[in-house]
Amino acid sequence: MEIPAKSRHVKTESGKRLSRMMIQSYTDLHRRAGEGAFTVWIAIIVPAELFAGFDNVVYAVPESHAAMSAGKGVGPLQCEKAERAGYSMDLCSYARIDIGTAFDSGKDSPSFGLPKPHLLVSNTNNCSLLVKWFDVYNRAWDVPHIVLDVPFAYGPQREEDLGYIVAQLRSLIETIERMSGQRFDIEKVRAAVAHSREAGRHWKRFLACAAHRPSGITAFDSFVQMAPFLTDRGTPELAEHYRLLADETEALVASGSFPVPGERYRLLWDNIAPWHQLRNMSTRLAGMDANIIAASYTYCLGTLEGEYRLFEGETAEPMRYLARLQNFSVCPMGKELRKRAMKEAIRELGIDGAVFASNRSCKVYSVMQMDLMREISAECAIPCAMIDVDHADLRAYSEESAFLRIQALLERIDRARSGKTA
Ligand code: SF4
Repeated sequence: MEIPAKSRHVKTESGKRLSRMMIQSYTDLHRRAGEGAFTVWIAIIVPAELFAGFDNVVYAVPESHAAMSAGKGVGPLQCEKAERAGYSMDLCSYARIDIGTAFDSGKDSPSFGLPKPHLLVSNTNNCSLLVKWFDVYNRAWDVPHIVLDVPFAYGPQREEDLGYIVAQLRSLIETIERMSGQRFDIEKVRAAVAHSREAGRHWKRFLACAAHRPSGITAFDSFVQMAPFLTDRGTPELAEHYRLLADETEALVASGSFPVPGERYRLLWDNIAPWHQLRNMSTRLAGMDANIIAASYTYCLGTLEGEYRLFEGETAEPMRYLARLQNFSVCPMGKELRKRAMKEAIRELGIDGAVFASNRSCKVYSVMQMDLMREISAECAIPCAMIDVDHADLRAYSEESAFLRIQALLERIDRARSGKTA
């Protein structure tokens, strides 16, 4: 497809730096693991800053590796390997990509897979599938698997739940001390938390560029740029990268450079990024003068349940800070909390319409979307549409069906503007 003249797909300095950073991150991970570092595989929500408290512990995030694999076009290939081994196509495509990669010794992976772990740490507040997924490796490799039990959030986190999580984090630290023979230093975690908080402030500054008309970013930029938030948490490099990203994006806005200069439709995305469609979808939308300027998937980073703004917290009690943030991803939230944050995003950013991406893989993100969509549409008086996607398995996505609905959504926005019934 020809790229429309008015869409901006020039790689920014931050984009180039991101590529270098991700290569460095995976290279360091493999090198340090090869040199004997204690290696932990974690679910996305596990507070990675804890590992900075040890001299020689590295962590890998299978979900992040699966997203990268899907973005690089090998999602279906790795999924099929897992399916041939007997895993159902109905399982989350992240799990299938990861299992397909791990049991094929990292073959076809953009990062040569992940170094084998000494310990697996999952949690219960995103989805139960994740626990079962890590259990596969527990059985296959006889590697211990710790499951952090994090209560779901149907309201603000309760003090007793916070205490319950802190106790489990302490137990995790003791386990790593025992298994690795290394001593834990809370001062190093305090420093890591400070870096994460600083990174979060710059991340929000970057996302705030969406408030400009036309928007200074697309949600697709934020999908791509969230990668080091998962792989490099608690590092000064992450804080510096997001500082430069926010500075550069603000400078582009000030100079009048926008990804969709003729922007007529400002849209919100709900669900995980469609990793295999980032370029296709953003390009095609730009050709329609439409921009998905924000996403619940990326504005939630660093926030509390039901909030849109960054959780500042404080670093005096790093364990409490990390435990308090355990519900930041959208999945553990009940409908009312999800809706509250979404309505604030719609207000802050002047959203014209919302795209609810019903994700075949991620049932937990998708299950309440139909109700949420009806309520958002009524309470915010904006048209909404639901499209079918799978975040990492291209085989379960139809571009033409999705764009038929997006086209209809844009027409409803036009009708609403001209005073006719949406
Ligand atoms: S089903 Fe959703 S929450 Fe669970 S592992 Fe897959 S993407 Fe993550």
